[in-house]
Amino acid sequence: MPPPTESQFRCGFVALVGRPNVGKSTLLNALVGSKLAIVSPKPQTTRTRLLGIRTLPQAQLVFVDTPGIHTHSGSLLNRRMVEIAFNALAETDVTALLVDVERGITPADQELARRLGEGTTPVVGVVNKIDRVAKPRLLPVLEQLASLLPEREVVPVSALTGENLSELVPIIVGLLPMSPALYSDDELTDQSERTIAQEIVREQVFLQTQQEIPYATTVIVEEFTEKPEKRVLFLRAVIMVERPSQRAIIIGERGARLKQIGQAARLQLEAFFGYRVFLELFVKVSKGWTNNPRLLKEFGL
Ligand code: GDP
Ligand code: MG
Repeated sequence: MPPPTESQFRCGFVALVGRPNVGKSTLLNALVGSKLAIVSPKPQTTRTRLLGIRTLPQAQLVFVDTPGIHTHSGSLLNRRMVEIAFNALAETDVTALLVDVERGITPADQELARRLGEGTTPVVGVVNKIDRVAKPRLLPVLEQLASLLPEREVVPVSALTGENLSELVPIIVGLLPMSPALYSDDELTDQSERTIAQEIVREQVFLQTQQEIPYATTVIVEEFTEKPEKRVLFLRAVIMVERPSQRAIIIGERGARLKQIGQAARLQLEAFFGYRVFLELFVKVSKGWTNNPRLLKEFGL
């Protein structure tokens, strides 16, 4: 087959939106084929806008993972996250609205669908987590979402198993504008490797703390030194928390939890970068950073 001419090529931004925990980050990782975004059973672990790029022979899809859009917003950090989510929508060519089939269509999903339906951006409905339910439970959710998004396609998928993603991708491609590629075909994300390292460590903090370690956690990578000839990476990272009690939780008894966090993060980092990784972790208390505009700016939020 001859390669498509430039005028047939499609490219654009595809926002993944939906309530926290519906599987946006999992879907982004599955569609890009590489683990870029934090996935966690705790809601709101995705804090900033993250791009994931998938290049096909005839199209380039630039997925935008957004923090979950939610209405109650307390701290400045929460409000910034919602702002980031809505800003992402404004710059989008296609919006994929995700719902969780197990939870069913909630009032928040209906509200989101209504807002998206009023806009001019093409929307595709995605019913995720179909691996969790039998067909009879899937069908009414598909119908409900279809009635909320008239004349739009609604696709059932499992971001976790990859089921039906091969149906979803061409539907999205069909909605993209004609445009040459925006990124080179070997790029997977716009994030720096340092940011990805930060997110990998932060993910382990979330996963390994049973107690409520809230979103008041950030990770700063202070040193990121590559030795390509030896395929080794040295990382020094600081986990920032708000209170001494949180510091104690993360460190654990005789440092046991911090050690677990470090080991698990190191394995993930090695898998991502393909290097041996030496990771030093520290925990620091910085009171009130989630409400401090200067500190938020410093962390890129
Ligand atoms: P987000 O908040 O929308 O980004 O959701 P995440 O991608 O972080 O996923 C939230 C939780 O749902 C995680 O525990 C995921 O492993 C899980 N999850 C996501 N997609 C699927 C799916 O298709 N099937 C199942 N069974 N679990 C999923
Ligand atoms: Mg997420």
